[in-house]
Parts: sequence; structure tokens; C-alpha cells
Amino acid sequence: MALEIELARNLLYKACWLLENDRPFTVEAAMAKLYCSEVMHRCVHHAVQLHGGYGLMKDSRVERFYRDQRLLEIGEGTSEILRIVIARNIGIAGRAM
Ligand SMILES: Cc1cc2nc3c(=O)[nH]c(=O)nc-3n(C[C@H](O)[C@H](O)[C@H](O)COP(=O)(O)OP(=O)(O)OC[C@H]3O[C@@H](n4cnc5c(N)ncnc54)[C@H](O)[C@@H]3O)c2cc1C
Repeated sequence: MALEIELARNLLYKACWLLENDRPFTVEAAMAKLYCSEVMHRCVHHAVQLHGGYGLMKDSRVERFYRDQRLLEIGEGTSEILRIVIARNIGIAGRAM
């Protein structure tokens, strides 16, 4: 989990750096949003498992993270749409999509 969070953070910082330095950032931003969302998915999945039944109880912050994480893969561009954005921008998706 620590490794994946570090990788996600680095990808996010790279996208932010590109934006702040007036460079193209579409692909990196889409990759960062997609990857960070999926890393949180995996991390909260592990967190629930680590906490056992308590991880599912409503007074547990883990339960809240578990539910909230699903929004990351839907809000502000779903993961499927981000994959299409990335594919188009690296030239492997047909223009007809
Ligand atoms: C709580 C919440 C907050 C949001 N906040 C914002 C926001 O701040 N800004 C903003 O712009 N949008 C926001 N959205 C909209 C969000 O980014 C999605 O665009 C929207 O939820 C998609 O519409 P839908 O939920 O009706 O899913 P649908 O469009 O019905 O899609 C259903 C599923 O099919 C997939 N899908 C759709 N088309 C394709 C395709 N061509 N190829 C492959 N898969 C496909 C989708 O990825 C999704 O998983 C928010 C949505 C929610 C629920």
C-alpha cells in the first residue's frame, strides 16, 4: 500500500508540475486521477479486511472511506472515460470513438 500511494503521489505531483509550468498535462492528469482512484480502491479494500467486522460498521472511519472511494471512480470523469482519454492521447484508440 505504501509503495502504491508513493507512486500515485508522484504521478499526481508530475501532473501538477506540468500544469504549473504551462506544459501539456492532459494524459498525466487523466493517468493521475485514474491511478490515484484505483490505488485508494485497493487500499480501502485492504483496510476493511485488516479491520475485520469493525471495518464495516458505520461508526468506523474505514467504512466511510470504503463508501467514499467509489465516488473517485465515478465523479469528475469515470475511470472508463479516463481510459478513453488516455488511449486517444497516446494514439492507440480509433478516432471514430
Ligand atoms: C457525486 C457525484 C459528483 C460528481 N461531480 C462531478 C463534477 O464535479 N464535475 C463533473 O464534471 N462531473 C461530476 N460528476 C459526473 C461524473 O463525472 C460522470 O460524468 C457521471 O456520473 C456519468 O454519468 P452517469 O453516472 O449517469 O453514468 P453513465 O454515463 O450512465 O455511465 C455508466 C457507466 O458506463 C460507463 N461508460 C459510459 N460511457 C462509456 C463509454 N463510452 N465507454 C466505456 N464505458 C462507458 C461509465 O464510465 C460508467 O461506469 C459527478 C457524479 C457524481 C455521482
